[in-house]
Amino acid sequence: MLIPSFNLPSNPGAEIRMREATVADCIALADIAEDREEAATTFFLDAVTGGDTKQWTAEDRRFALLWYFVHVEQEHSYRVEYDCAHCGQTHSFHFDLKDILDTYRPIDGQPFRDITVRGEKIRVVPLSGAAVEALELERIGLDAAEAEHGPDSVEARKARLQMRLNELIHRTGIDEQKLVGLPMGNLQELVSAVAEATDEMAHGLESVYDTGRIYFLSPEHECPETKEVTRCRVRFWASEFIPEL
Ligand SMILES: [Zn+2]
Repeated sequence: MLIPSFNLPSNPGAEIRMREATVADCIALADIAEDREEAATTFFLDAVTGGDTKQWTAEDRRFALLWYFVHVEQEHSYRVEYDCAHCGQTHSFHFDLKDILDTYRPIDGQPFRDITVRGEKIRVVPLSGAAVEALELERIGLDAAEAEHGPDSVEARKARLQMRLNELIHRTGIDEQKLVGLPMGNLQELVSAVAEATDEMAHGLESVYDTGRIYFLSPEHECPETKEVTRCRVRFWASEFIPEL
């Protein structure tokens, strides 16, 4: 099967070609633990593109997975079920994953933003594949701490805080010692400046990054009772995409 090439969302000048996954790829993928979604994504995308996809942005990687899936699989309808915030009932609907591809947008300008916070110059970059792999491991640790000690335990709160700091480190390259030495006011200013720069660099598909997990946004669904519209977070993880034997 010939998969059309695509342009990398974070670097539209780069044209990416993909081949179809082989049986050997799928056998090797089965060795990766089920909750290591990002590790599986790296393995899969490295195999089908021949590139080093840890260097791609997290958004590039999700886009590439969806691109692969939509062009290789015959069936790409996706079902979502959600508890409606407007009427309190549970609704479900189907949409075509192809429609999500239409929300694609390339990055505006370069894949970084130079900002200045209280006189200090900082370069903000999108999360890379390597960063989301590291954050995914922390997420697994956080889930374990929550399961063992409860979501409000000291252990869970510490893990969550450390994860937020590490996310900031991945986005800015600021040294951890320096970051923890900042007065709280500076940190808050930094966090909001980084969020603003990150929004400016939005690329790929409409998605949300939340504590080590990436979600796509579904097309709008209209509540049959109230006619209010909802967009659902879609867990669009590698295991749902990557072909199985
Ligand atoms: Zn409803």
